[in-house]
Amino acid sequence: MNYAEFYNHSVSNPQAFWENEARLIDWQQPFSQALDYSRPPFTKWFVGGKTNLCHNAVDRWIGTQADQPALIAISTETGTEKVYSFTELLAEVNRAAAVMQSLGVAKGDRVLIYMPMVAEAAFAMLACARIGAIHSVVFGGFASNSLATRIDDAKPKLIFSADAGSRAGKIVEYKPLLDEAINLARHKPSHVLLVNRGLAPMKLLADRDLDYSALRQQHFDANVPLVWLDSGDPSYVLYTSGTTGKPKGVQRDVGGYAVALASSMKHIFCGNPGETYFATSDIGWVVGHSYIVYGPLIAGMATIMYEGLPVRPDAGVWWGIVEKYKVTRMFSAPTAVRVLKKHPPELMKKYDLSSLKALYLAGEPLDETTSEWIASQLGVPVIDNYWQTETGWPILSVAKGIEDTPTRLGSPGIPMPGYKVKIINETTGALCGPNEKGVVVLEGPLPPGCMQTIYGDDERFVNTYWSDVGNAQVYSTFDWGIRDADGYYFILGRTDDVINVAGHRLGTREIEESISSHPNVSEVAVVGVEDKIKGQAAIAFVIPRNAETAATPQAKLALEAEIMAVVDKQLGAVARPSRVYFVTLLPKTRSGKLLRRSIQAICEGRDPGDLTTIEDPLSLQQIKAALAG
Ligand code: ATP
Ligand code: MG
Repeated sequence: MNYAEFYNHSVSNPQAFWENEARLIDWQQPFSQALDYSRPPFTKWFVGGKTNLCHNAVDRWIGTQADQPALIAISTETGTEKVYSFTELLAEVNRAAAVMQSLGVAKGDRVLIYMPMVAEAAFAMLACARIGAIHSVVFGGFASNSLATRIDDAKPKLIFSADAGSRAGKIVEYKPLLDEAINLARHKPSHVLLVNRGLAPMKLLADRDLDYSALRQQHFDANVPLVWLDSGDPSYVLYTSGTTGKPKGVQRDVGGYAVALASSMKHIFCGNPGETYFATSDIGWVVGHSYIVYGPLIAGMATIMYEGLPVRPDAGVWWGIVEKYKVTRMFSAPTAVRVLKKHPPELMKKYDLSSLKALYLAGEPLDETTSEWIASQLGVPVIDNYWQTETGWPILSVAKGIEDTPTRLGSPGIPMPGYKVKIINETTGALCGPNEKGVVVLEGPLPPGCMQTIYGDDERFVNTYWSDVGNAQVYSTFDWGIRDADGYYFILGRTDDVINVAGHRLGTREIEESISSHPNVSEVAVVGVEDKIKGQAAIAFVIPRNAETAATPQAKLALEAEIMAVVDKQLGAVARPSRVYFVTLLPKTRSGKLLRRSIQAICEGRDPGDLTTIEDPLSLQQIKAALAG
């Protein structure tokens, strides 16, 4: 079967298509109906079926590969490395599940996981899945405020945490942040389970706080029966990154998610049992859920959990891991590649990377320079993939497991099975023609694995994401895009990153693309700033490739003029930024996304808002300093 047949089948007959894909996982009880879409936009996948994510990720593989590696936990922060076989992983999951049960956690209860990238975090997630508890993993870098709002939203019975994480050799204490968050929150968990890594002293609160290792010891030989769940039962809640505003609690099911992961691991990531997968993300993000913990294990692969930076002790560290564990498929983000690019490529060449078959990148637009650079360094295909926390797995990519479709620079690819991707006019809702810019929407029903609802708020789910276009209901991605004449899609930025200059609507992303094509531009952020005459004006912040070229006021002016000329030529004078400032750092979220709303706020003299997700607060100082001249 080729891609076109495969894809067309998935959208013309979703029942039959997904019924077939559902064979990729184990069911304790078969489903009677693949899809129930009687109450759009809500979807019910595999109605009547019973299954379990932990069973499919762990127990299932005991029969065939009990002693093979399942979880490889590496920390270059603490200098530790441990390989858990499927048998050992199952034992640890059983212990964690027994401890949770002993604390009264049962099916449907929420467990909030606030952990660094340690093996126990994966044990906790899988243990929740085993007993039907709903996990809500909160990124370990978040401060008390963000954590408190998530505690109040998910109302966990139990919080699973640790004394500390470590970042670039600096201890980041979690316990004080957690205590503060629980103080701030209205909801109080009954218990807090703490993994003591011996990184920071911890005061345990009597009756509430418990040492995980002591309880683990008590349940060392535990064998916790799997709780078989209805396919539509919730498996977890995960909040979106909050790049554009208030995070939304994405709720996912059990059966649909398991099938979507098994299907994507086969057709997109081409993973086989016994191989090793390495996703460099964090369990606090959706990539961590889908492609660190559940996806690779459901595919019978070993998965790597990595705590540390890509460049510490040096920029060869990831490639040493690829060599040592014979990684076949790797998943990272463009932002990480840009970091690597600033380091000598010899460090990469030192290692035998012959096991590696492809590198997958997602999370933000992948520019051509970055893509070509890493592809030439690694000598393997670089595969862009576009998706969201909401969808759980790629919307656009290429399905190399089906057909060797060529990739196209600058495009994340073509629709993956089940996604009815459309580009529509923002105001009229009319379908856009080839190369005509519009909003990227997905026509319902969404495929398995996508969000079921916003946790506890069906109405917000419908109102936020869905609208009627003609007689179809469509889900908005809130991203701009175009589809070219050959069916490749291009993502042009977020719909709220649009600025209005003298009546012209311009995407900040397009201006950034144009500025990026200047050879001395390493990174750029463009924002729209209030302007008395034009309504809004575009302002650019640029990290020059060579800092010396913007060291003096004259040099800055010259480079600014060159950059403006590039935009003039490519997009026209109306898109030309009114000012170009030079910095060495840009404000980004911990997941590498540009925080344009914070830059914009500073430019307009407003409060930059919730900054708990910011990577480095110093970047904001630089913006202020640049503006002050
Ligand atoms: P929030 O929704 O809370 O503002 P967020 O949108 O940053 O946060 P995520 O779900 O982590 O949260 O990010 C998904 C978004 O990231 C997409 O909607 C898109 O804007 C961007 N994105 C992801 N992958 C790609 C890609 N391959 N190319 C271009 N953009 C991408
Ligand atoms: Mg979003």
